[in-house]
Formats: sequence, structure tokens, C-alpha cells
Amino acid sequence: MTDVLVVGAGPTGLTLACLLRRQGIAVRVVDRLAEPAKLAKATIIWSRSLEILDELGIAGMAVDAGIALEHGRFLDGTKELASTRTDCVPGTRWQPLILPQEQLERLLRERLATLGVEVEWGAQVTALEADGDGVGATLLPADGRVECDRAGYIVGCDGLRSVVRSSAGIGWREHAPYDEVFQLGDVEAETSLDPNTVHFLLGRRGISVAIPMPGGLLRVVGYTDGVTPEGNPDRDALQQLLDDVGHSGTTITRVRWSGTFQVVRRLADTFRVGRVLLAGDAAHAHSPAGGQGLNTGIQDAYNLAWKLGLVVRGHVADKLLDSYTSERRPVAARILKLTELQDRHVFGARSPLARTMRNTALRVVERIGALERKVIPDLAQVTVSYPNSPLSISGGGRRSSYIPGSRVPKITFDAADGSGTITLRDPEPDGSIRLVAVAARGSETGLAEIEAFANEFPGALRLRQPATPLPDGGRAGLLIAVRPDGHIAYRGPCAVTPAFRAWVHATVSPPARLGALHESLPAHT
Ligand SMILES: Cc1cc2nc3c(=O)[nH]c(=O)nc-3n(C[C@H](O)[C@H](O)[C@H](O)COP(=O)(O)OP(=O)(O)OC[C@H]3O[C@@H](n4cnc5c(N)ncnc54)[C@H](O)[C@@H]3O)c2cc1C
Repeated sequence: MTDVLVVGAGPTGLTLACLLRRQGIAVRVVDRLAEPAKLAKATIIWSRSLEILDELGIAGMAVDAGIALEHGRFLDGTKELASTRTDCVPGTRWQPLILPQEQLERLLRERLATLGVEVEWGAQVTALEADGDGVGATLLPADGRVECDRAGYIVGCDGLRSVVRSSAGIGWREHAPYDEVFQLGDVEAETSLDPNTVHFLLGRRGISVAIPMPGGLLRVVGYTDGVTPEGNPDRDALQQLLDDVGHSGTTITRVRWSGTFQVVRRLADTFRVGRVLLAGDAAHAHSPAGGQGLNTGIQDAYNLAWKLGLVVRGHVADKLLDSYTSERRPVAARILKLTELQDRHVFGARSPLARTMRNTALRVVERIGALERKVIPDLAQVTVSYPNSPLSISGGGRRSSYIPGSRVPKITFDAADGSGTITLRDPEPDGSIRLVAVAARGSETGLAEIEAFANEFPGALRLRQPATPLPDGGRAGLLIAVRPDGHIAYRGPCAVTPAFRAWVHATVSPPARLGALHESLPAHT
């Protein structure tokens, strides 16, 4: 039986499939299209996504194929309102990149193939049926023969009109769509626009965004109030978009590809029902402002993959998967809110008063350095944390840089057992959660107790002891749990305390067949 059936071979499904395959999980990936889509929808790959692509061994290839995104500029007609560096994301070597979605998908497919999985094209999921042991999917392969596949879990990465979502009975929280119909095209052009820069051209009747693309192309996307395009925009229509926002420095010479789209805003009520999960656009959809959609789908996949891995390998009970909704849905809700604010107040300001307020706000935000300090790191998704997750528990002790829910600091240490150097942010090779214990000065008892306790959870917990104290450890010693996605789950003193037991119970309680061994664990509150 397939362990996990991934429905949809977009960036979310492909990333998830690669991450699961690397853990040895039997994955099948199906897509209803007859062949890979040629649409270059998303263009910007932010830092946190590149870190994940690096873990998959393809970030370098993405960088070679793309263009470094170094600046963003906001212009009102010819007047510059604000500009920012974009290659200033702290704590990472990966700075934002411009790469068409179809090229990223190709890299992911090639990586997946090296892991032994080919996408099954022309295979459309039409219905699901779940029971206690698994979930069945009705597939309509290209040859017209109806097939039913059973899998332990099904993940709907099937985009905006997700059949997996509707078949599982998961509702949408739907916001009214925008009236504006966006036109976009990848064009050849003679332009005075800066290289490696995204230009936001804000006009009185609409907006245009100009993005440099690999191969010397320019992506032009925008709308003009009151214009309802008929069919795909041609050269004149795209040139008109630029004229309408008062930009005269670009002459479009040829259109390579063009299309239209309307922004929808939706959020699934939950990202999990039993053995069915949702990720990417299937779970959340919003404006492309800020280039968040594809990147958020990749982060969903990253959050889900280690949890599914532990569950499918039989190391922990599948209630761990509930934390996927608790952690990722608030992130998606926040992105919906932020893109909405951006659309309404930055791109949508029309009246003279609204424009004056917007222009002033942009200048102030630039002057106080908030674009580089706050906005860009947020867009790069390196600031995402899960402080309110049921998996994030503080076991007390002094405040330190090890904050449950946040990403673990970039720290490297030598293991006390001589097994080598460990980078805290890198996952354990076997996909387990890493415990790092440093004894209180003069006391080794806590360590022995933690080791005995961790040994009760083989495959789920792995204890590592540094040869020297970690920075910011404190005199009471330190025990931290670092998830395979690099977030701190637990921090407390170096001892098996009730808080630590509660965290273990919330996170790695074993599947039912082993449950009796652990009945003494206190319930998580
Ligand atoms: C113009 C535009 C610009 C954008 N720019 C950016 C950007 O710069 N940065 C960014 O992060 N995001 C951007 N986005 C958003 C981004 O393109 C999406 O968020 C992203 O494609 C979502 O990926 P996904 O894998 O979740 O879904 P999709 O890419 O939609 O993939 C879903 C896949 O599922 C398949 N499928 C659907 N139904 C079934 C079924 N029943 N059975 C089998 N297969 C099925 C589809 O064929 C498809 O291949 C942009 C979007 C648009 C429209």
C-alpha cells in the first residue's frame, strides 16, 4: 500500500514528495494534467524556501538558473516613494531569487526522480473514501480506466479548486474576490528599469509591477481600473498598463507569454481531517502581492513532512498531525491579512487623500528602516515561529535565546561521544527530534535520567550531548528539543521534569499498540 498519496505535482506536492521520499516513505504523486504546466506563475523564491531546497540539494541549481533579487522600488509616476534592499535577510546565506515557477518545478521533479518517484501525469483524483486503516482515492488515469488506490494518508496539494478538500468535506472561509482582473505577460523589452530590481509602479487608475526574469525577459503584471480584458493581453495591452501608471521608460517589443487572473482569498477551515491533509493553495489562497503563495506551500510541506514521517514510520501516534493545522493555519491567516492590507492600502489607494497617506507612510517606513529590518525578513519567512503550538512548551528556567516555537539559533557543537560536529538547525539523519542536554554544573544525574527516558522513544527522540556547554545555557543546565524543521519545541532545566513529560506526551506519544508503556505520562494541559 502507498504510505502517502500526494495529489498535485505543483511546487507544494513535489516538495512534500521529495521530503517524504528522503525518509524512505512510499510515496505516489498524481496530477490531472497530461504533462507539466508551462505557466510561469510565481517568480520569487524567498530565503526560507531556498534553505529547504538546499536541504534537497537543488538550491545551488536554482540560483544558477535564476536572478538575484537585490532591490525593490516603489514609484508614483516618475517619483520614487521608497526603495529597499531585498538581499538583506538576516541569519541565512540564501537571499531572494527570481526564478519562474515552471523551472523550480522541473528541478523538484528531477530531484524526485533521483529518489525513485516519477509523477503520474494524466491521473485525476475524483473522490475519496476514508476508513480507520487508510484512505481510498478514485483515480481517473489518462487511459480512462477507473482505478482505486489506497494509501495510509492523502495530502491534497491540488491547488485552488482542490477536489481533496471538497471530498473531505473541509469548508472554506471565503472572502469576496477583488473586482480587478490582472493582466500579465513575460515580454522582451527595451527598458531603463534597474536590473535585479522589482519595480512597483503605482498609478492613479491602477498599478503595474515589473520584474526582471531570466533570459533577459521582463514580467509585467497589473490592472487599470475599469478595464476588463478580453482574452490574453497582447503587446499593446501590456504597454498600456505601463503607460497608465505613468512609466515611459520601457518599450515592449515582443510578448512571449501572457494571461489574466483574478485574486481570490480563501482559507480552509482545517488543514486535516483524519487521514486527509491539505497543503499549499489547496489550503489557502490570496493575492500574489509579496510573492508568498508558492513559498507558503513549500513551508507547509516542510512542516508536514517530518510529522508524517514519524507517524508513518510508526514512531508516534498520529495526533501529532493535529499540530499541522494549529501551526500552519495561523501563518496562512496572517499572510491573507497582510496581502489584503498591502492590496487595499498600497496598491489600491486611489483618492488623492489615500494616495497622500500611502506615499507618506511608504516614506516613513523606508526612513525608519522598517522595510529592510521587518518587511523583507517577514516576506522571506525566516521569522515564522510557532509559539502557540501545542508542541511548543517552556519548562521554565531563565529566559534565553532558546524560545519554544522559534527557530533554533545557528549553533554548531562537537558531540561529547566523539561522533562528530552537529549543527543545531540541521535535522537528525533518521528524522527524529533532537534532544540536547547540558548538565548543571557539578551534577550529572539529570543527564542519566534524560538518557534513560529518551531511550523509551526510539526513532522519535535522539539525545545529543555537547562536549562543551552551549552558549546561553545557564547554571541549572539546559535541555532543549529541536524538531527536524529546526524549530525549538521544548526548553527547560536538565532534568525529566513534569513539564518535560507533558511535552513528550503532547509530541511523541507512541502509537496505540505501545501506549500501555506510557500510561503514567501526565495529560498535556
Ligand atoms: C500571476 C501569479 C503570480 C504569482 N507569483 C508568486 C510569487 O512570486 N511567489 C509566490 O510564492 N507565489 C506566487 N504565486 C502563487 C503561486 O503560483 C501558487 O501559490 C502556487 O502555484 C501554489 O502551489 P501548489 O503546489 O500549492 O498548487 P498548484 O501550483 O496550483 O498545483 C496544483 C497541482 O494539482 C493538480 N491537480 C488539481 N486538481 C487535481 C486532481 N483532482 N487530481 C490530480 N491533480 C490535480 C494541478 O494540475 C496542479 O498541477 C503567483 C500566482 C499567480 C497567479
